[in-house]
Amino acid sequence: MPSASDARETIEPVLIVGGGPVGLALASDLGWRGIRCLLIEQTDGSIYQPRMDLVGIRTMEFCRRWGLVGAVEASPYPRDYAQDNIYLTSLTGYELGRERFPGIGQAPPPPESPQRRERCPQNMFDPILREFAASQKSVTLRYRTRLLSFTQDSATVTATVENADTGAREQMTVRYIVGCDGARSLVRETLGIGMSGNAVLTYTTNVIFRCPHLLSLHDKGKAYRHILIGPEGTWATIVAINGRDQWRFSIIGGSEQREYTTEEIAAAIRRAVGRDFEFEILSVLPWVRRELVAERYREGRGLIAGDAAHAMSPTGGFGMNTGIGDAVDLSWKLAATIDGWGGDGLLDSYSVERQPVGARNVAEASGNLRRMLSVGAHPDIDDDTPQGAATRAKVGREFSESMRREWFTLGIHLGYRYEGSPICWPDGTPAPPNEARAYVATARPGHRAPHAWLADGHSTLDLFGRRFTLIGFDAEAAEAAPLLDAARARRVPMEFVALREPKVADLYERRFVLVRPDGHVAWRDDRMPADPLHLIDVLRGAADGPSVAAWHEPANACKLA
Ligand SMILES: Cc1cc2nc3c(=O)[nH]c(=O)nc-3n(C[C@H](O)[C@H](O)[C@H](O)COP(=O)(O)OP(=O)(O)OC[C@H]3O[C@@H](n4cnc5c(N)ncnc54)[C@H](O)[C@@H]3O)c2cc1C
Repeated sequence: MPSASDARETIEPVLIVGGGPVGLALASDLGWRGIRCLLIEQTDGSIYQPRMDLVGIRTMEFCRRWGLVGAVEASPYPRDYAQDNIYLTSLTGYELGRERFPGIGQAPPPPESPQRRERCPQNMFDPILREFAASQKSVTLRYRTRLLSFTQDSATVTATVENADTGAREQMTVRYIVGCDGARSLVRETLGIGMSGNAVLTYTTNVIFRCPHLLSLHDKGKAYRHILIGPEGTWATIVAINGRDQWRFSIIGGSEQREYTTEEIAAAIRRAVGRDFEFEILSVLPWVRRELVAERYREGRGLIAGDAAHAMSPTGGFGMNTGIGDAVDLSWKLAATIDGWGGDGLLDSYSVERQPVGARNVAEASGNLRRMLSVGAHPDIDDDTPQGAATRAKVGREFSESMRREWFTLGIHLGYRYEGSPICWPDGTPAPPNEARAYVATARPGHRAPHAWLADGHSTLDLFGRRFTLIGFDAEAAEAAPLLDAARARRVPMEFVALREPKVADLYERRFVLVRPDGHVAWRDDRMPADPLHLIDVLRGAADGPSVAAWHEPANACKLA
């Protein structure tokens, strides 16, 4: 047994607990900013059953910033594999409807972004983030290391961690602890942060099975997702998890916990395919689908991000993508606080900005689940009769229509906004609609600064990241001097970029637009502010800004239309 004398004191600014995609993204972004951090992960990082596979368009924009687009595009998921979603009674049975999508590599990015969403399952994506995080000089990754407990006072956090192989325990003192430790977060629990929502939507069972010749057993062709609809309604899905020989079969289940034997699982897979065939079950993972969001994301020196802060149904593919959004919002705020230019309110704004986004995405994911299960029972759906055909036509039509909301979600990924944020300066303009499907590009404060191609071939997004960026349209640096001087006086890193691009100027709508390190607009106007120092103090969380009433929309209005 380790003795107290084994204990060693280390001081790092940030301890990240959890090496899933969100912890790795946070370590990556902190490292990219040169901030020292230690990430601990209780496992060796191997992924036995990939969960996420959709890397959303905003996450890809962050990968662009980190220089990881090439690595994601080079991952082994075949880029010409059709991404259709099919609704069917079985793979060899009746097709009720289909939403067609080309292979990921065959779809150009939409006009709203320099990137496209990618299909890169967790067992391919996590290693990309891991390698990137490990390559940062200021980042230390320690696997097989588990957080046991921690306490905090006004200046530090003291954590006890254990080596999972030797049992040796160690105490470390850090300035901040961030729980990226998943849905059952010890960090969240220790901080006493409650979750609200619904703790059980379904008890679902995921099975990865191998069958290299599955495509030859049916006539439906290549597709990403198959939604199985039987006489009882929607009951299972099959997903092309690596686009080659492995498939993820999910028995959706219900609110009653249920364990399946291997024979039952095999029978269910045969039912879904509609015939007997040879396959190998690689792994079985029972899990609980939840609809929960944390009441707040910060308590003193402890913060939470990713599944630790929000647990949602995978319907929509929002979970990790929301978590990586948390990491990017939090990272520059931690960096600013550690570097000394962030004010007392900066870390508080993390919860104010991100919790409503978590709540929105959790609700949307549950809505997608409800739509997927909305079919209800149709005892004749498999009947080879005119009545059966009529039922299939009706179900197919209605289901195809309602499922579109899940397949087209640019608004979810790009349209989130930090309405009422204490570190953004409102300009009094109304917000564009907040919709799951449509995204309206806007440079209104609180929104993601929109993408536009520049004459030199770069995206506007390439201008943002390491510091505040003050864009002046048809303006000289001398005109921007009051704000640049104020930033310098407060040690806020800020760069001026003069743009003479009329189309971009039209999109951004004001002569001066100030974009934060995370790519969100902090302030915009046609002229310099009357009190530049006060503006800078508000944006760095060191002074109160305009009241929430100054925003056109109610505070935190992040609900979907
Ligand atoms: C079937 C399925 C499909 C999904 N598809 C998508 C998708 O397409 N797109 C998407 O965005 N999301 C998807 N998700 C959700 C996504 O997988 C999660 O949101 C994401 O993995 C959360 O990442 P995380 O890093 O927050 O947490 P996790 O991935 O859960 O990682 C937490 C880590 O913390 C470690 N840990 C826990 N406690 C400790 C401790 N005390 N000490 C040290 N380490 C600890 C754990 O070992 C774990 O590695 C899907 C989920 C499921 C179930």
